[in-house]
Amino acid sequence: MAHREYPTDSEAKQLILDIGRRMYQKNFVAANDGNITCKVDDDIIWATPTGVSKGFMTEDMLVKMYLDGRVIRQGDLAPSSEIKMHLRIYQENPAIKGVTHAHPPVSTSFAIAGISLDKAIYPEALVNLGTVPCVHYETPGSSALPDSVAPYCNDYNALLLANHGAVSWGTSLMEAFFRLESMEHYATVLMYTGNIIGKANVLSCDQVQELIDIRTRMGIHTGGVPPCAPRPSNVRDVLAQHSPVVQAEAAPEVKTYQPGQENSGSAGALTEDEIERVRQAVIARLRGQ
Ligand SMILES: [Zn+2]
Repeated sequence: MAHREYPTDSEAKQLILDIGRRMYQKNFVAANDGNITCKVDDDIIWATPTGVSKGFMTEDMLVKMYLDGRVIRQGDLAPSSEIKMHLRIYQENPAIKGVTHAHPPVSTSFAIAGISLDKAIYPEALVNLGTVPCVHYETPGSSALPDSVAPYCNDYNALLLANHGAVSWGTSLMEAFFRLESMEHYATVLMYTGNIIGKANVLSCDQVQELIDIRTRMGIHTGGVPPCAPRPSNVRDVLAQHSPVVQAEAAPEVKTYQPGQENSGSAGALTEDEIERVRQAVIARLRGQ
């Protein structure tokens, strides 16, 4: 008997197809990568099958299964081997009702570098997504991969999987997908500020606390708390800081984000040539060259 708090079978299947198309169009997956699941009862999910592009799925391809892995209904294809990770996430935290896994290029690049997404640089990422730890590498599809993810399912909303990709979850499949989008957006902003602009004003501990309070009032009790700056560097008129006089006064308060380092110290200024070289390299990578 389906509970009212769950989508119907046909709603769940339609949402999986819609999100699959969007994941593919947004370049979050290539070829047959990625997988999506949606819970429709306390112990039942719909899942994407193995060996099919998430951009070209039809309803008859989807697999209905129990959380213990037994298949209730499937088409020509078995569930993806990475569904084991989804099952484990649902088992660890019964409040989770949707899970998405993909290989978005910027998030995956951070996962390959082993750098967690945990810089307090803008409110949206902190409130709805939270910090995103990078868990250690395990072979995709292995049963060690679910074990690596399990400890984080009750405290966070998304993870980077080292040398592999990204996974997110939520109290609905749509929330899980929005978190995947937010993660890639957050990773992209971190890449630009850390490696192209070369500077980020990290939110102060008071500013972070305010956002955590907002998040809590929204009923979100997961997502972690990022490191914060002891003093705010973004409260004065930021335009005024471009004046040489004000800049000299404000300089000690400016925090810099350096990849792999804590948020302290002064800007590691790049020359214009260096910035342009990095910019071109990143653009080439984003275009898949
Ligand atoms: Zn994968």
